[in-house]
Amino acid sequence: MLIFKTIAETQSACAQLRGEGRILGLVPTMGALHEGHLSLVRAARAVCDVVAVSIFVNPTQFGPTEDFSKYPRTFEDDCALLKQEGVDLIFAPTVDEMYPAGASTFVLVEGVSDRLDGASRPGHFRGVTTVVSKLFHITKPHKAFFGQKDAAQVAVLRKMVRDLNFPLQLVVCPIVRESDGLALNSRNRYLSPEERQKALVLHRALEKVKDAGAGGETSAQKLVAAARDVFAEEPSVRVDYIAVVDPDTLEEVPDVRSGALVAVAAFVGTTRLIDNIVL
Ligand code: AMP
Repeated sequence: MLIFKTIAETQSACAQLRGEGRILGLVPTMGALHEGHLSLVRAARAVCDVVAVSIFVNPTQFGPTEDFSKYPRTFEDDCALLKQEGVDLIFAPTVDEMYPAGASTFVLVEGVSDRLDGASRPGHFRGVTTVVSKLFHITKPHKAFFGQKDAAQVAVLRKMVRDLNFPLQLVVCPIVRESDGLALNSRNRYLSPEERQKALVLHRALEKVKDAGAGGETSAQKLVAAARDVFAEEPSVRVDYIAVVDPDTLEEVPDVRSGALVAVAAFVGTTRLIDNIVL
C-alpha cells in the first residue's frame, strides 16, 4: 500500500495506477475511520481495479468556531484498517500541501450550498467542493464514493460534477448504522455514554417519520411535526433542522413525493449530528 503526503507523488502514482485501462476508485475521507468509511472502500473495491483513499481534515469546510483543531486524528489506525481492506494508495497531505500560502481559488455551487447544513454552517460546502475538486484533479478517478449519511453533500457534489463536467461517476453508498440505529460518524467518539444514548433520538425521529409515511401521511408539515414530537422526548438535544426536501435541489417540498429526503441535524451536548432517510 502506497502512502503519500505530496500532491506530486500522488498525481504520478495515480496516473500509473490508472494505466493499462485499469479503473481507479477514490474514497475521500477526513480519517478517524469507521465501518461507514470502510463500506465505501469495499464498494470501491467491488467495482474498481485500484482504490485510493484520501485522509485530510479539510480546514476550509470548518467554521471559525467549529471543531477543526480537536477533530479526531487516528492516522496509524486508519492506515492499518485500509491495508486490511486491500487499498492501493493513501493520500494524506498536510494543510500547507493542499493550501499553500496565497491559495485563493474556491469552487462554489451556488444555491444548493446554502441549504440544510449549508444554511447552518456558512461556507461549509464551499470548503467541501473546493477540496473535492482538488482531490479529483490530483487523482483523476473514474469513480468516486460518498456516503448517503451526508445527503446534502451528495446533492452539492452531484451538481458540481455535472456543472463542471468532471469525467467521473459519483457512487453513493447507504448509511451504515450501529445495531441500535445510530448512524456511524467520526464525531460519535465525542459523545459521553449518556449523550450516546440521547443521540438515538435522531434515528427514532426518522423511524417515526418513516412509519407515518408508510401509513399514508404525505404532508411534509405533519411529518416534521411527528419528528419534533419525538425530539421533545429528549429536551436536552437541540434540533438544528428537520426538513423534507427534494434530494437534488434540497428545496423544501410541501408534499412527499417518491424520493423525498427527510433530513435532521441536532446538537447532542456540543456535538452536531446529522441523519436522514429517503421516503
Ligand atoms: P468524513 O470522513 O466524515 O468526511 O466521511 C467520508 C465519507 O464517508 C463521506 O462520503 C461520508 O458520507 C461517508 N460516511 C461517513 N459516515 C458514514 C456512514 N455511517 N455510512 C456511510 N457512509 C458514511
